[in-house]
Amino acid sequence: MGSGHSFNAVADTPGALVSLAHLPRTMELDTATGAVQAGAGVRYAELAQWLQERGRSLHNLGSLPHISVAGSCATATHGSGDANGNLATAVEGVELVTAEGDLVALSRDEHGADFDGMVVALGALGVVTSMTLRTAPEFDVAQRVYEDLPLEALDDHFDAITGAAYSVSLFTRWRDPVIDQVWVKHRVGDAPPGGALYGRTLRWVQHFSRMELARRRAAIVRAVRDVADLRFVNGGGTGSVHTTRRERAVTEVAAGSGFYQPRLFDHYTGFSGRPAALFALPVVRRPGPGAATVLGGGYLASGVPDAGRLPQPYLPSGLSLSTTEGAGEVQTPLLGAAADSLAVGDLVWLRHAKAGELCERFSRLHLIDGPQPEDVTAVWTYRGEGKAFL
Ligand SMILES: Cc1cc2nc3c(=O)[nH]c(=O)nc-3n(C[C@H](O)[C@H](O)[C@H](O)COP(=O)(O)OP(=O)(O)OC[C@H]3O[C@@H](n4cnc5c(N)ncnc54)[C@H](O)[C@@H]3O)c2cc1C
Repeated sequence: MGSGHSFNAVADTPGALVSLAHLPRTMELDTATGAVQAGAGVRYAELAQWLQERGRSLHNLGSLPHISVAGSCATATHGSGDANGNLATAVEGVELVTAEGDLVALSRDEHGADFDGMVVALGALGVVTSMTLRTAPEFDVAQRVYEDLPLEALDDHFDAITGAAYSVSLFTRWRDPVIDQVWVKHRVGDAPPGGALYGRTLRWVQHFSRMELARRRAAIVRAVRDVADLRFVNGGGTGSVHTTRRERAVTEVAAGSGFYQPRLFDHYTGFSGRPAALFALPVVRRPGPGAATVLGGGYLASGVPDAGRLPQPYLPSGLSLSTTEGAGEVQTPLLGAAADSLAVGDLVWLRHAKAGELCERFSRLHLIDGPQPEDVTAVWTYRGEGKAFL
């Protein structure tokens, strides 16, 4: 067992309970992948603080700081936020001791879809001794609390309210037909370029546009069905998959290159993914402590010219662009403690602000499906058809 906070009887037994509270509180960060391996006795408060000191964070947290990582993931403990997976979704690897006494290592890479069940196993597979979790760059959260939301208003606008921010939690004492408190958390700096007011306005416009679109689409599908059979109705756009899929008129949804989670998608509150399209630049100089210069890098995204259109150093974690230099045509200086682990020739991986535009700069994409050279397939980029024109 972990910290014994489960609401139900899952941790109760007339037999012996094995507590991991006294296992060493080990935490090890892989700066190349951003993954952290935490001993099973580690609690979320310890892990979150330890990661923050290293510029990293967890994508979501439950309400209690002192629950154990292993116990929380074993029971699919959730935080809040429409687009935030529960705590177990961050798990990439599990080490456990089976009833026979064997130490077994399980990973998402190796076990694919079955792995989710190995993480949320309620202790049935053995005693978990450590877990490896995916982490994200450190971020701050700003919270506003709204009081006395009528239940009727919640019913009428449920999706708009719970999808209004990175995380929305509802608290009620069930005494009156009200939600006593609505906690709305935004990631600081999460507003799209243009500031918080612009961001809020944009989200309201998006919300009403979606409602209008859903009404029109339903009417159109009804009208077409009156005169012809429809085998499927496709709707989509990566940023609106979460709302389009709820429309009864739609039978399938489509999503585009947003699934690569380019940098601009970090601002979306209704969708979150894992960065999957990266470009690599070699280190060509180490000008001093905490600095590394990489070759090229000035791949700016189109649109409003602001910092959000710059590429973002991603791995190793803990590097940032210089505010006075940005990303250069010939060379790009990168700053941060992680630079000290880099040597000339090492690769730094960066994210583009837009996924499609990355493809205009390179003639090939290398699809990586595993750690071996044979797991890599090269394909022509779809825009340049093998040629980088721009
Ligand atoms: C006040 C309060 C607030 C809460 N808030 C939330 C919330 O916001 N969201 C939410 O989803 N839940 C919440 N919970 C529920 C609770 O946090 C979870 O159920 C979680 O399991 C608690 O973690 P734990 O470390 O205490 O697990 P425990 O209760 O100690 O263990 C639960 C089960 O997990 C398994 N397990 C634990 N450790 C291991 C291990 N090392 N190896 C193998 N199996 C193991 C065992 O089957 C064990 O029986 C809350 C509970 C309380 C009391």
